[in-house]
Amino acid sequence: MLYEREKQVAIAAATAAARLCEQVRSDRHSRAIAKPDRSPVTIADFGAQAVICQALMAAFANDPIIGEEDSNLLRSPEMSEQLAQVTHYVQTLLPRATPESITDWIDQGNGTVASRYWTLDPIDGTKGYLRGDHYAVALALVEEGEVKLGVLACPGLAVEAAHPEQEQGVVFVGVKGQGAFRIPLSGGESQPIHVTDAEGVGSQRLTESVESEHGNFALQEAIASAVGLTAPALPMDSQAKYGVVARGEAALYIRLPYSLSSERRENIWDHAAGAIIVEEAGGKVTDMYGQPLDFSLGKKLINNQGIIASNGAIHDAVLAAVAESLTSL
Ligand code: AMP
Ligand code: MG
Repeated sequence: MLYEREKQVAIAAATAAARLCEQVRSDRHSRAIAKPDRSPVTIADFGAQAVICQALMAAFANDPIIGEEDSNLLRSPEMSEQLAQVTHYVQTLLPRATPESITDWIDQGNGTVASRYWTLDPIDGTKGYLRGDHYAVALALVEEGEVKLGVLACPGLAVEAAHPEQEQGVVFVGVKGQGAFRIPLSGGESQPIHVTDAEGVGSQRLTESVESEHGNFALQEAIASAVGLTAPALPMDSQAKYGVVARGEAALYIRLPYSLSSERRENIWDHAAGAIIVEEAGGKVTDMYGQPLDFSLGKKLINNQGIIASNGAIHDAVLAAVAESLTSL
């Protein structure tokens, strides 16, 4: 099968990284460190990026990786204690790792977009991770601007949506033309997943970010009710939202800017993995104008604004409701 080796390597790497993040959190070592742009990062973000870049480099030496983090902050003298902590956790998976090899692996994730590349968010939803809520380790392979493979490890989601009291931690996978499936984070059988149909459990529900500055909640919720999604919205951090749409727990994920003149554009690593998983589960993902997401242009989706990920059936109605509301933005 096409992308079989890429799939195996990506699942193993994202799973190992997610377990590292969980260990850091359960040891209470997940304190926020402020990046120069004031967004939070933790030692787990650095550890997860190191582990995944090491695995990708070992298997696919020529593929560039575009990851969210770099090691500049971690290399500064006042961060020596944090670097020692990152080294400790990475050594639990890679015993011969040193602070030098770890910072080098992290910086392997500072590649540039090419005809084939990987994109990585070692912890998508760091704010959720710090709060004790949802987050995702997100890894995707892009060729010629199109996502071919996406892996999302979501330690906070139950393996079975219908049984939240049972095992936690699920990995979603989507491969172009081969469908989407999920595997328990602890290992085991993979099961195909599918978006909800009109009668499905999640067919009445929108999912959106937890952080109110990350999206225009009032408008997102107005659009959801305009297309008949009347149940209360499900707030969730990270691309776990794409996983929830892909397996039918919600019919729609919307992310709309507060203003059309906003200069902000989405990062490729915040959407690539989730988008292919929803599409391969039978759904549809576009920007707010119905255009496909263009992953060929660099770190940002510079030609796209807003994100609509749906079960497919309601997509056109959502786009029509968005178009009607644009005058209010
Ligand atoms: P979510 O949990 O869906 O809000 O997604 C988390 C992602 O939101 C992070 O990875 C950031 O890249 C992104 N983010 C940070 N600030 C903003 C903002 N002001 N507007 C939209 N997205 C943001
Ligand atoms: Mg992110």
